[in-house]
Amino acid sequence: ASLKSGHLREDLEPSGSDKPAAAAAEMADSKGEGKVLVCARCHSLRHYGRVKHPDAERLLPDFDFVAAVGPRLASPSGARSLVLLLADASDFDGSFPRAVARLVAAAGEAHSADWKHGAPANLPRALLVVTKLDLLPTPSLSPDDVHAWAHSRARAGAGSDLRLAGVHLVSAARGWGVRDLLEHVRELAGTRGNVWAVGARNVGKSTLLNAIARCSGIAGRPTLTEAPVPGTTLDVIKLDGVLGAQAKLFDTPGLLHGHQLTSRLTSEEMKLVQVRKEMSPRTYRIKTGQSIHIGGLVRLDVEELTVGSIYVTVWAAPLVPLHMGKTENAAALMKEHFGLQLQPPIGQEQVKELGKWVRKQFKVSGNSWDMNSKDIAIAGIGWFGIGLKGEAVLGLWTYDGVDVISRSSLV
Ligand code: GDP
Repeated sequence: ASLKSGHLREDLEPSGSDKPAAAAAEMADSKGEGKVLVCARCHSLRHYGRVKHPDAERLLPDFDFVAAVGPRLASPSGARSLVLLLADASDFDGSFPRAVARLVAAAGEAHSADWKHGAPANLPRALLVVTKLDLLPTPSLSPDDVHAWAHSRARAGAGSDLRLAGVHLVSAARGWGVRDLLEHVRELAGTRGNVWAVGARNVGKSTLLNAIARCSGIAGRPTLTEAPVPGTTLDVIKLDGVLGAQAKLFDTPGLLHGHQLTSRLTSEEMKLVQVRKEMSPRTYRIKTGQSIHIGGLVRLDVEELTVGSIYVTVWAAPLVPLHMGKTENAAALMKEHFGLQLQPPIGQEQVKELGKWVRKQFKVSGNSWDMNSKDIAIAGIGWFGIGLKGEAVLGLWTYDGVDVISRSSLV
């Protein structure tokens, strides 16, 4: 409550019970400048010229974009709204902001008759921005294929007919695609549009917005102005000057996705699962009755096969150990090694913190050893690419509530 609409209010005291606010206050106070309370992201903007402090968002509660920004999207004044839907290339389905995408899709559907002459002026439009492209094995992928794949995954995530004004594949770390994105955003926003950048925590939004601000030629730091959404605990921040004199670019707080396994991990555990450079595949040939573990987080069992064996390629952070063994030993392995040899979780106590261990079954068929037929993706962690000639029944174990989906394969 102390942070209420208050990223500019430096005069507030942290209230005793409000841990996130107190934590943010502590961070704001870390330079010993007296009792100053500002939102952690604003503090970072001012003091570091960056949109946030690396640890800040983990301490903060979720931001309800749909409630806070939704009513402003279809602007009666005619100012165009553009939503940048950010998704992380290394965890597309887990990170895709589907609730916001659904909102945009629903607005489009409600006015479908008006689309005959192009997008109606006051309807929100959306660009899909796939971040951290450098993490994918780009030399072996065609940009057109990634583009089409991302588009179809976004539609699946929105659960309905999501009309996108475009798809951008970017890497803010490498500067790939940032200028094209900025030009497209400027074109769609026109002279007085409102642009909202939306994404799950860690999707790379701050890095991208900082890259966009640099690319726009803003000297020094983006300047802070007042939040356009009053009464929100966490603030929407306006980045001045990036899109020209009157069009506005807003950064929104990172969304907390409970269905991403990473949302349950400690910062030490996060260091192990974060993918920092181009992902490299680890491939196994496995048979019925065998299992592959990704640390103490995920297990894939081969339950039935119509062929002798299948190829399973694991795409996950290199610091997370993999283990292949007999499924009959899996229960003992979990009891004895999860949290110890198989980390994360770090420590056996932490295994219980992650929730109930549950299984989901998948039937996969394919006709090639060389190409993966399907991916089984675990939100926050990565995916298994399955290559087979024939049919397989697979059991996927992870913690309850973590999204596990089967999708057309990316690589
Ligand atoms: P936010 O929570 O969405 O604001 O995400 P950040 O911008 O703080 O980025 C989260 C993590 O992803 C950080 O460790 C960044 O260094 C990393 N990151 C951001 N953009 C890129 C990128 O383009 N490529 C790679 N490899 N890492 C990135």
